[in-house]
Amino acid sequence: MLDVNKLVQDFPQVDQLIEGQPLFWQNPDYQQKAALPIGLANIFDAEARFQRFAKYFEVAFPETLPTKGILESPLIPIPDMQTAISRSQAQPLVGQLLLKADNLLPISGSIKSRGGIYEVLKFAEKIAVEAGILVYEDNYAILANSEFKELFSQYGIAVGSTGNLGLSIGIVAQKLGFQTTVHMSSDAAQWKKDLLRAKGAVVVEYDDNFSNAITAGRKQAAMDPKVYFIDDEGSVDLFLGYSVAALRLQGQLKAQGIKVDEEHPLFVYLPAGVGGSPGGVAFGLKEVFGKNVHPIFAEPTHIPSVTLGMMTGLNDQISVYDVGIDGITKADGLAVGRPSRIAGKFMKTLLLGSATFPDEQMMAELARLYQTEKIKVEPSAASGFAILKQCQEALASEYPLANSTHIVWSTGGAMVPSTDFARYLADGQAELGN
Ligand SMILES: *Cc1c(COP(=O)(O)O)cnc(C)c1O
Repeated sequence: MLDVNKLVQDFPQVDQLIEGQPLFWQNPDYQQKAALPIGLANIFDAEARFQRFAKYFEVAFPETLPTKGILESPLIPIPDMQTAISRSQAQPLVGQLLLKADNLLPISGSIKSRGGIYEVLKFAEKIAVEAGILVYEDNYAILANSEFKELFSQYGIAVGSTGNLGLSIGIVAQKLGFQTTVHMSSDAAQWKKDLLRAKGAVVVEYDDNFSNAITAGRKQAAMDPKVYFIDDEGSVDLFLGYSVAALRLQGQLKAQGIKVDEEHPLFVYLPAGVGGSPGGVAFGLKEVFGKNVHPIFAEPTHIPSVTLGMMTGLNDQISVYDVGIDGITKADGLAVGRPSRIAGKFMKTLLLGSATFPDEQMMAELARLYQTEKIKVEPSAASGFAILKQCQEALASEYPLANSTHIVWSTGGAMVPSTDFARYLADGQAELGN
């Protein structure tokens, strides 16, 4: 049995988490030496696989033609947002603020277009190569042919999701020809379920939280040897798919003349659910930029699963429900009570820290971003902005913030229906008082 009093004694910030107070947690193990089972070579392997599939994407998803079949998002300076944030607080936000706009990623309009799609591609490639109808040097455009669809239709792909992971996997797996089953938690937005069904995927709905929905999905998939389960709670392939973002970001920073070194640190603010997508990106960034990039996770005060797991060192052995936190948030993409099995382990020395924020702040930032920059994101994707002030206060004495670059990772939004967005906006405007 978990002894909550003992936990609070050992880790006093747990009390703040339970009370729902926004906090900044600084990771005591940050930048220590550690041996990870994966490294830069694995990131390049993932990048090479995306490159092989680029010709397929050009054919199957013509919206990827402008980027030659590569799924990538822009890095956008947002000076008007920075000014508005500075005006809203006592201290101006110093350094340069940019948005990594994964809300615009092709196919699913979210960060899941990296990890989720990557794992589907890896599975499809393995089956096709083993069947003897694909070789690695083929032009992968042939994967759109009926011969491949017939092969893939003999297999199933299953996944548990709060929404976007199911969307990214469902859309690509259905297109390749797999039978797709998506197990959705009660937090998943209705339009995501509707869209998946329209694409031909089977959507199983649970009147339950994410951790239980994914467990049910995993069990069901295990009964059928032809079904491959993509496991958001522990997949290294998902993690590696996300990590490719770091290579792309390195190029984008260079193209924009932005330096990353000791005098010019880079802070990256990443929304965390199970910790897979922010973990994969953070891992990639640490491999590419080393000690001068500083990843920070953002989580709602009502569901700070990765923060609780890392702070206590219990990682996936503790859920927010164990300490009486209710798990209720408008950030549907972050509505995950228990972190993944690998996030805390891999992030132990790579994550500077994490911060929690109230939903109201997140909704206000969603509205502020739209009003200043005309950029539409979903609630989860605005959470990086909601922790900027706390982070600045916590980090000012240790880092040269005036020379720093701040990248808020915007994780989803392009596919949100306009009626849903109008509701989010009204909600956020009310918080801003306009
Ligand atoms: C999934 C998701 C996240 C968080 O990713 P995890 O891998 O669950 O930590 C953040 N934002 C959005 C919009 C998402 O869909």
